[in-house]
Amino acid sequence: MSYTDALTKLPNRFASSDYVADLIRRDEKFTVVSIDLNNFKSVNDTLGFKAGNQVLIEISRRWKSISDSNSAGYTDYITRINGDEFLLIIYGYCSEAELRNAIVRYADALSDHLTVDGCDLYVTASFGYAEYPTDANTADSLISHANLAMNEIKKANSSDNILKYSPEILRNERTLEIENIIRKALKKETVYFNLQPQYDMEHRLRGFEALARMKDSEGNFISPVEFIPVAEKVGLIDKVDSMVFRKTTAFFSDLIRKTGLDMTLSLNASARHLMKKGFIDEIRDLVDKSCINPNQLEIEITESILIDSADKALQCINKLRDMGIKFAIDDFGTGYSSLSYLNKKPANLLKIDKSFIDKINANESSKQYVAAIISMGHIMGLDVISEGVEEEEQLEALRSIGCDYVQGYIWGRPMSAEDAEKLVTSMI
Ligand code: C2E
Ligand code: MG
Ligand code: MG
Repeated sequence: MSYTDALTKLPNRFASSDYVADLIRRDEKFTVVSIDLNNFKSVNDTLGFKAGNQVLIEISRRWKSISDSNSAGYTDYITRINGDEFLLIIYGYCSEAELRNAIVRYADALSDHLTVDGCDLYVTASFGYAEYPTDANTADSLISHANLAMNEIKKANSSDNILKYSPEILRNERTLEIENIIRKALKKETVYFNLQPQYDMEHRLRGFEALARMKDSEGNFISPVEFIPVAEKVGLIDKVDSMVFRKTTAFFSDLIRKTGLDMTLSLNASARHLMKKGFIDEIRDLVDKSCINPNQLEIEITESILIDSADKALQCINKLRDMGIKFAIDDFGTGYSSLSYLNKKPANLLKIDKSFIDKINANESSKQYVAAIISMGHIMGLDVISEGVEEEEQLEALRSIGCDYVQGYIWGRPMSAEDAEKLVTSMI
């Protein structure tokens, strides 16, 4: 009884779990298909609960007869999980085509009308499937991947109602999830920031880079490496930037007022943000409202802005530079590293990307490559900072080739506002 669904007499979720666990133990190829009836709620709502039960019983009867017939040479096992959710397990098939045919038989079984309480009605279902071991290798992940595919095809609302799981579906799902976290954090103003110190080669503090931080509703930390690309994709990055700008400048202004120290605050600006009509006014406003001198504010941009929208970006940059704001080119070396735009002097600082610092001591030519970037920066009148410096040997190499500044775990990780304040006050 504990393995049988009382209403439909199909095996239930416990039976399906055991079945899947057993197949995994045997380590044979098999597939789980997540099935969900379409619009079943409206059947219940319009015809009543009892009629809904009749529909479930009749569909189960049709599907059970398919799985019992075992005519096609493979084995299928149909179970009812809950409500209008079913799980079909298929093994012993040879090809993808054969598998798909097996599933199509279950879909086709719904093409004949059902008669309930003298009413004819048609029911359709959505089918999503995932294969062991290629799509997932645990029972939970197999079923959740099959569910994802099922939900995806249900949302698509197309005539096709069967979909195989793919990693892209998972990525879409995660993107959507992250998008929601970003929207919530913006609404509740919980986007916050960390500050990572930047030093000159004698270990004197130059200032801090502000880095956006975000948590989901359970308090789990979401890495910017994950949420920044999503924010860019869905057009929320300028709002994230602005919140970080507003919160960090308020904090920094306070710190400067309290300590009187001369430090730089570096802010990351996305292309979308910089190109926005109100960008210059936004920065002017932040400066006006704070005790930060314009030359204590630095905006980090990536090279792609200067390549993709060179004229418009340069116009904006030049106006801000006229106000005294500094600019840095972030992640230098990973993109175009073009001399032509550097020649237009769009910035004060070049930030050499961590990937070059990682390799700096791998061989002499790697080191000379970094040395060449530094020389080039100096010739163009730029200071140069190295990002992601973690080891003493990297620091030594950078000193020997004339780097001006460092930012990296070796001297300071990104830290909370409170810790940054402690660091600064300990210096006076
Ligand atoms: P970025 O601007 O190049 O920032 C430096 C990143 O390198 C930070 O990662 C920092 O934590 C990390 N890092 C610094 N030193 C070390 C080191 O020694 N070792 C290692 N392994 N990592 C180091 P984070 O905070 O994860 O940020 C990633 C990227 O996200 C940033 O790269 C930046 O492009 C973007 N980002 C962060 N905050 C914002 C923001 O407010 N607005 C925009 N548009 N982008 C942001
Ligand atoms: Mg940066
Ligand atoms: Mg960088």
